[in-house]
Amino acid sequence: IEDNEAWVQSLRWNEQGLLPVIIQDAETKAVLMMAYMNRESLELSLERGETVFWSRSRKELWHKGATSGNTQRIVELAVDCDRDTLLIQVNPNGPACHTGTYTCFDEEERTDSGKDEQGVFKQEAPNKQLKVQVQPVVADAVDEESESVHVLEQLARTIVERERERPEGAYTTYLFNQGLDKILKKIGEEAAEVIIAAKNNDAKELTSEVCDLMFHLLVLLQERKVSFNTVLSEISHRHAKPRRDTYSELGKVKE
Ligand code: AMP
Ligand code: ZN
Ligand code: ZN
Ligand code: ZN
Repeated sequence: IEDNEAWVQSLRWNEQGLLPVIIQDAETKAVLMMAYMNRESLELSLERGETVFWSRSRKELWHKGATSGNTQRIVELAVDCDRDTLLIQVNPNGPACHTGTYTCFDEEERTDSGKDEQGVFKQEAPNKQLKVQVQPVVADAVDEESESVHVLEQLARTIVERERERPEGAYTTYLFNQGLDKILKKIGEEAAEVIIAAKNNDAKELTSEVCDLMFHLLVLLQERKVSFNTVLSEISHRHAKPRRDTYSELGKVKE
């Protein structure tokens, strides 16, 4: 139980004190539904071994299946890379969706439990039938990608490989052999060179020095065993931080 406490403590709750939770069928692996949990509902879920959510519309704890009987027995909990989303695998005791479908993302197979006394579906989401056509990636877009952050990812992969294989004569090998202090010293130097280039108003020099600095930062990340992907994901989460006025409902990414 103390382990559970530490685990709950380590999660990144949003500003409303909520976490989005994805519910997956432990056997079929189908995505069943998405809901929110607050701390109390998560603790209750762990205690009971069944999903208990926080209903944002009703503003109350919501033991899934309390009225419908369609409870969800918890098999496994997982947290995502930056600890702000839960994935819970369950054995469902019936349809996950209040409309009576096995999953909330399935419009076909409706069962009786979603109908009222007249046999009418209780709640029908109007846009459920809307299927978005995904555009195939065009060649142009692929070309553009090679100019994007992908080149950095490629460089990061090369650096990982250099550290593992340490090919003789490679500058990266030299840096790894010298170790952390050498790498930090280089970062200091390159950062200073970036500053000088910027002050000189020299675009070409600035470009070159920023390249040097980025390369050494990637070497540092590898030396400290922090993956470049972690950094990219942190950047994208910060970048995606919703604005209060427009997206307050979504909850904000916590800093
Ligand atoms: P239940 O928890 O299955 O007993 O359902 C009780 C109420 O919770 C329903 O009448 C709905 O308002 C709501 N509800 C149940 N399942 C879902 C779901 N998958 N998504 C959203 N709301 C739900
Ligand atoms: Zn996340
Ligand atoms: Zn649903
Ligand atoms: Zn330089």
